[in-house]
Amino acid sequence: MPFKRTVYDRAIYQEPGPSLDRDNPFQSMRERFDVAAEILELDPGFYEYLLTPARIHITAVPVVMDDGRIKLFEGIRVIHNEILGPSKGGIRYAPDVTLDEVKALAAWMTWKCAIVGVPFGGAKGGVICNPREMSPGELERLTRRYTANLLDVFGPDRDIPAPDMNTNEQIMAWILDTYSMHAKRTENAVVTGKPIMLGGSEGRKEATGRGVMTVTLSAMDRLGLRAAQCSVAVQGFGNVGSIAALLLAEQGCKIVAVSDVTGGYYNENGLDVQAMIDYAEANNRTLDGYQNAQKISNEELLTLDVDILVPAAKEDQITRHVAPDVKAKIIAEGANGPTTPAADAILKDNGVLVVPDILANAGGVTVSYFEWVQDRQGYFWSLDRVNRRLDRLIRNAFDKVYDEAEKYDVSMRIGAYVLAIDKVASALRLRGIYA
Ligand code: GLU
Repeated sequence: MPFKRTVYDRAIYQEPGPSLDRDNPFQSMRERFDVAAEILELDPGFYEYLLTPARIHITAVPVVMDDGRIKLFEGIRVIHNEILGPSKGGIRYAPDVTLDEVKALAAWMTWKCAIVGVPFGGAKGGVICNPREMSPGELERLTRRYTANLLDVFGPDRDIPAPDMNTNEQIMAWILDTYSMHAKRTENAVVTGKPIMLGGSEGRKEATGRGVMTVTLSAMDRLGLRAAQCSVAVQGFGNVGSIAALLLAEQGCKIVAVSDVTGGYYNENGLDVQAMIDYAEANNRTLDGYQNAQKISNEELLTLDVDILVPAAKEDQITRHVAPDVKAKIIAEGANGPTTPAADAILKDNGVLVVPDILANAGGVTVSYFEWVQDRQGYFWSLDRVNRRLDRLIRNAFDKVYDEAEKYDVSMRIGAYVLAIDKVASALRLRGIYA
């Protein structure tokens, strides 16, 4: 059978050649998908269907730069799957965005939504650009033209963007406005993660970091650890890493290290996370020059003697070179795809409990769903209601994934894939194939 051959030839949990640590996130996603598909004995046709993006849009985005020159950017939107509902997923702006990366991120959105039980499929967008070198005006024109090019793709019942790396509330506001100008009515449910004043949700900005905190507490429970005993290192100090660090500190954990693009910052007595957030805000969003800490390297941060490690930066950070030296008992993946498949195997052998990205960072899309629901109802919830519902969904999802992993004696990552793929495949079976 073609499917069986695909799986068995892949030899997922053997030490792979160097190619598997290469940063191809789609390949990384596929490795795990294959293991889960095999456990589920997925029909070969379903296997192909669930792995293949439904649609890929690549669009040229011309922008008049501040100096009058016209510059062309490449915009991507991948709709991975719409079986459970309209597709959902963020848009990232970065110079090194690739199609394979966006394809992987779109698939991860499908699995994420299935795991937390929100009625969305998965999508992701990217624009190849360097937002740090662009003025606000250039970013606005880029965003509006990208949106205009994708008017037929986006829509509250079709495909709903949200923030991701280097995109924020302001960028969502421009998408909302551009889409609404063409629709000739204000359509605030077309994006999530927008400013509260424009129909955004309380708690959305903090939601991903909050979900990371919630799964970390659940994982600590399973290992019999108490927050007050735990030390934490956080890689990445953007929206996810900084909020996860802040909330874990509030729970009593000692945050001993954080990092951003300028390097790692370590203090064995614990860092003052709020002071660091304030510092970064006043310092062009970086921790460069922060005083009350010792500078360490990225690799040192990942291999610190801590109880909990939160990779919240980007893909392929915990590789097979780093994994043998990881000392944390729990890894809670705030980023998408921070651990390579080869590293997974090593961490599993070493007994590290990895809470996988598609569960650990699903708090963001969960509150995006709440935001979409509120927009469509025109009735807005209190922060307390948002947080209570978020906590409940994430705790339930954690328990389901943990049980699934125990049932098949696999890692939580594979448990999460099994749960997600099974759910989407069951929905596909009910819908059938339209001929
Ligand atoms: N970009 C976020 C993620 O990777 C959020 C997506 C959303 O809210 O639609 O999960």
